[in-house]
Amino acid sequence: MIRVAVLASMLAFADVSAADPKYAWNLGELYPTEAAWVAAKDAAVADIPKIASCRGKLTTSAATLVGCLETYFDIDRRLTQVNVYASMNYDLDTRVGRAQQMQEQGRQARIALSSASAWMRPEILAAGRDKIQALEAADPRLTPYKQPLLDIVRRAPHTLDAESERLVAETATMSNAGQAIRDVFVNADLPYPKVKLANGEDVTLDAAAYTKYRAAIDREDRLKVFTAFWARYNEFTRTLGTALNAQVQAHEFSRKVRKFDSSLAASLFGDNVPTVVYTQLIADIHANLPTLHRYLSLRQRMMGLDKLGYEDLYAPIVKRYERTFTPEQAKALTLEAVAALGKEYQEILGKGFESGWIDWFPRTGKRSGAYSTIAYGIHPFQLQNFTGLYDEVSTLAHESGHSMHSLLADRAQPYATHDYPIFVAEVASTLNENLLVNAMLQKATTDDERLFLLGSHLDSLRTTLFRQGLFAEFELRIHEMAAQGEPLNGENLTALYLKLVREYYGHDKGICEVKDAYGAEWAYIPHFYYDFYVYQYATSVIASVKLADGIRAEAVAKPPSTAKRDAYLKMLAAGSSRYAYDMLKEAGVDMATSAPFEAAMRDMNRTIDAMESILDKRGAKAPAGGKP
Ligand SMILES: [Zn+2]
Repeated sequence: MIRVAVLASMLAFADVSAADPKYAWNLGELYPTEAAWVAAKDAAVADIPKIASCRGKLTTSAATLVGCLETYFDIDRRLTQVNVYASMNYDLDTRVGRAQQMQEQGRQARIALSSASAWMRPEILAAGRDKIQALEAADPRLTPYKQPLLDIVRRAPHTLDAESERLVAETATMSNAGQAIRDVFVNADLPYPKVKLANGEDVTLDAAAYTKYRAAIDREDRLKVFTAFWARYNEFTRTLGTALNAQVQAHEFSRKVRKFDSSLAASLFGDNVPTVVYTQLIADIHANLPTLHRYLSLRQRMMGLDKLGYEDLYAPIVKRYERTFTPEQAKALTLEAVAALGKEYQEILGKGFESGWIDWFPRTGKRSGAYSTIAYGIHPFQLQNFTGLYDEVSTLAHESGHSMHSLLADRAQPYATHDYPIFVAEVASTLNENLLVNAMLQKATTDDERLFLLGSHLDSLRTTLFRQGLFAEFELRIHEMAAQGEPLNGENLTALYLKLVREYYGHDKGICEVKDAYGAEWAYIPHFYYDFYVYQYATSVIASVKLADGIRAEAVAKPPSTAKRDAYLKMLAAGSSRYAYDMLKEAGVDMATSAPFEAAMRDMNRTIDAMESILDKRGAKAPAGGKP
């Protein structure tokens, strides 16, 4: 089915030649030839021993510290470019053995730099904050390094003596055992069930097939898929529970030896995010479950179901966009959408679109999906697999948000602080998606089109805010259980998960039925091994809704203003020169308060209102999309 859609939509712009260099990367912008890449890599590697000459005297004078940091970051910048080239080259054709080899060589070079410079952090830490600040005051050339240096010295209370650090480092391979066992088990050993669909098709429900068929239009098919898939997972929750327990115990070990109050505090310390951001998110979600329930009732109404079940959440509620888009149309729509961010933003992006930022089309061997990366001092690069679907226009807006973030930070920051933390990264991308949906809604001419746009916006709020929020809460609770000495096992993990899902989805209120078997869903989610990562999906979207609302409102205010927009662009340009939480707060979004979540809920309720009024107009019982 996907294949047919791709072919049909490719025809939509058959006049576009995939071989046209206008639609492809020119890696020659990084290195003119492969030989030049090899030479650049070798030259950078040859410089690595220079770092050793600073050892033992790094903080003896400001001049020494400046010199050593400049040497280190210069090699780091060159090796980053070496690696960016190697991975982009590999992604263009993953079948080429040489490309794989180059990627491995780039990785090895980076490992060599890491091990040759491993002593630097401890030496800076040992010097202490006062000494480092005195050196900074003595030499303005240290100004670009202030934030990276501060970030090292703030770790002092959680750093151990050299012998203990050595011991902790030795545990690194053991600490990933839980995840390693889980990955091998679900990827190689788990005997995935087979089901026969209504059309007679036999399907083996591995993870990819489950993702595809849980969205089946036929309700009996969805039920069959859910029943078989979770029955199989339920057989193995003992093993998977033991694996997850091992991972959580590893987090507990690390937080205890590093003297953190909780695993949550230990994890969020990395990006200096206050733990209240996390606990506030969970409190906000609980306070706003009625909005999720409103969405679920709307979904039930649109699907024309007597009763909504957890297995009904992935089926489409609206007809797909029949319209397809050419790259030129996708670019124009994205540029129009980002007009709210100002002329300069729009112009830079517009120029980028015409200057080889994007490798547009899918090809045999090319990596799937989409991403944005940057070669510092050159420009951002986006990998796309564009076939003309609306989702891919949205992906272009999303990746363009990352690209512009990279570019603005690249222009404003020295290399040492050009990269941005994950906590803000997805703000820039989802804000552009938000602007695109709103621009598309303004142009929509039919109710079907409006329903599609509103419906996909709602689905994404449901999955990023509430689903990821549920994962975040589950993760918090299992670490709390472990901290209280309660060992985790399949049984109590399933019980906890089922209780949470039922609470979130209003099972007891009769809003959405969650069958007992679905309590095993925790065993399927790889993110619980990532150490408090998923909450950032939710916080990013919440922050971007709040920012986008403010930026749009001030643009139409009388008189119009650009204060919020300017504060936002300033945040993008700040790279990692400040901590993420502080940057967002200065841009007008305090993630330790309820205000951003409330803005997201207003957006969600507005969207539900708009869909309901279209449905009312059509007559209450007319389902617009997938038949029950
Ligand atoms: Zn992204």
